[in-house]
Amino acid sequence: MIDPATIERIIDTAEITDVVQDFVTLKKRGVNYLGLCPFHNEKTPSFTVSPAKGIFKCFGCGKGGNAVNFIMEHEHVSWPEALRYLAKKYGIDVVETEVTDKEKEKQNERESMMLATGYAQRFFSSNLNKSDEGIAVGLAYLRERGYRPQIIEKFQLGYSPEGWDIFTREALKNGYKEEFLEKTGLSVRKGDKLFDRFSSRVIFPVHSLSGKVIGFGGRTLKQDKNTAKYLNSPESDIYHKSRILYGLYFAKRSVVQNDKCYLVEGYTDVLSLHQAGIENVVASSGTALTVEQIRLIKRFTKNITILFDGDEAGLKASLRGIDIILEEGMNVRILMFPDGEDPDSFAHKTDSDRITRYINDNELDFVLFKTRLLNEDAKKDPVRKSMMISDIVRSVARIPDRITRMVYIRECAAILNIEESILYREAYEIRKKEAEKKLKYKNNDSGFKSPKTLPPAQSSAGMVNERETHEREIIRLLINYGSIELFGPNDETNEMPVTVASYITSELEKDELEMSNPVYNSILMETCKVISEGSVPSGKMFSNHPDTAISSTAADLLSSSYDISKIWKRKESYIETEEMKLRQLVPSTILAYKSFLVRQELKDTEDKLKAAGSEEAILLQQRHMILKSTIIQLAKQLGNRIVC
Ligand code: ATP
Ligand code: MN
Repeated sequence: MIDPATIERIIDTAEITDVVQDFVTLKKRGVNYLGLCPFHNEKTPSFTVSPAKGIFKCFGCGKGGNAVNFIMEHEHVSWPEALRYLAKKYGIDVVETEVTDKEKEKQNERESMMLATGYAQRFFSSNLNKSDEGIAVGLAYLRERGYRPQIIEKFQLGYSPEGWDIFTREALKNGYKEEFLEKTGLSVRKGDKLFDRFSSRVIFPVHSLSGKVIGFGGRTLKQDKNTAKYLNSPESDIYHKSRILYGLYFAKRSVVQNDKCYLVEGYTDVLSLHQAGIENVVASSGTALTVEQIRLIKRFTKNITILFDGDEAGLKASLRGIDIILEEGMNVRILMFPDGEDPDSFAHKTDSDRITRYINDNELDFVLFKTRLLNEDAKKDPVRKSMMISDIVRSVARIPDRITRMVYIRECAAILNIEESILYREAYEIRKKEAEKKLKYKNNDSGFKSPKTLPPAQSSAGMVNERETHEREIIRLLINYGSIELFGPNDETNEMPVTVASYITSELEKDELEMSNPVYNSILMETCKVISEGSVPSGKMFSNHPDTAISSTAADLLSSSYDISKIWKRKESYIETEEMKLRQLVPSTILAYKSFLVRQELKDTEDKLKAAGSEEAILLQQRHMILKSTIIQLAKQLGNRIVC
């Protein structure tokens, strides 16, 4: 952890225009500076920096904050990483607290490993570009494949010379320890000797999200069938294959700007697309896609297009793997290349405009694509058809957003020519089972873990955002009146009494709603936990909470109601009015929140429709219809509430 005094020094020292100017060209305009926003595509500048206030703000996309926020946003790093970046920039010594000796050792070890991989990258690159062998063998091969010098340099490609231990010996001579050469997998031990892992291979360094070389892929140039075409660094403390995407370091900016990420098979596809001018592309390199990799992409965009070059059989085998992308709530599209082409070969034939156009014209929504593909397959075979239907429903059921699920069920039902209700029921059953599994897992988990670094929820003074205003009102009711009985027990159905807390949590859960404010969300989650343990949450529980973000928010919300009741008390007859009106107030507050969210989404859908391609438009129109009818339903319920 960084010591608080250091944090203060860094924040005091970092000068906003100075920090921003490393990335954005700024022009002085009066007391402020103006430039092109790095966070969205724009032609006329709307990105302003105020040195006096120490903040930046873009009037185009709305992003804003201080110097640390700028680095976090721009470099896609965490808060401590951004602080370390600024400390380095200004030569401030970072004092760390509470780091045990063991942690320090681990940290030193990782640093030593990265020094070794960094050295190896420089060694391989210089070999490729400067040694006779490198030029004649490695560089000749890359040129032959059509890679230009800029791309070879940008991706820091290299060549590991032929021989048993040329790299290893050179590294040892330069003071890199055996231990770290082995741990990074650059050298392999056989008996008491160390050998080069990548000998006589073209080298593709793998970069971390912040641009450090942490591993390598090496391609042999031999035709020998017994030599593996690609060899990769082994898993290590600095190189976790499941958490790395090849090319993401070079792609992240373009992914954000295009709000889209292409996923390809390997190193050469990434390079070729980059060379053709398409930079928002990453590869999972040899391993099946993992949830961690998807979450990495999700930090930058929700739209992913898989560029698939295999045949149909290969595609069918990987369909299941794609479901995990849906589960993360991402929009997944798929693009099949014409027979015999892959992104690598395709990119060498044409330019970025043509490739982009080809992709835009041919990419297909994944769920619809899968449905059509399997439907075609099972047309005449009823047994296979029923298996296929559950296969498709399993995919759809994984999608977290309820309305998106409804849209797909409608469209898939039309493609498959079966009743929508059958698909709904099946999806519902799958989700119910999954939810039960998760709940069991949750309950086994000892103790509730709330994130410890929550920013405090905004106080009533600084309320800017309409959504949070709704959320705040719901949480206010929850904290002040959570344990009060809203509806009595139902003897016929043997149901428990409904409290304000259980009503609120079940209403939000029913529509799978989460609050946008993380503090409110934590309060809700804890409420759910307390209820599931059979007890009743109280306001005190939150105002005495160990997490100060929660306790201060709770104190604020408890006192705001207290103030109201004091005002009311003065006009004698209004004492405790709010409490008496809860039966009407709580449901209508929830309904107002829901209808606000649906209206927002409707607007969003309308905006998207304007720019949508034909297939996307069908899905968006479905969404539009569903949202419209939801609004009508909610308005009716809200009307009823107000009347009664
Ligand atoms: P060729 O010239 O025969 O087409 P290639 O180098 O293009 O060879 P492919 O077999 O076409 O390789 O594979 C495409 C991509 O898949 C490669 O660029 C590589 O990044 C990736 N790949 C293939 N095998 C592996 C592997 N074992 N480990 C990591 N990546 C691999
Ligand atoms: Mn190839």
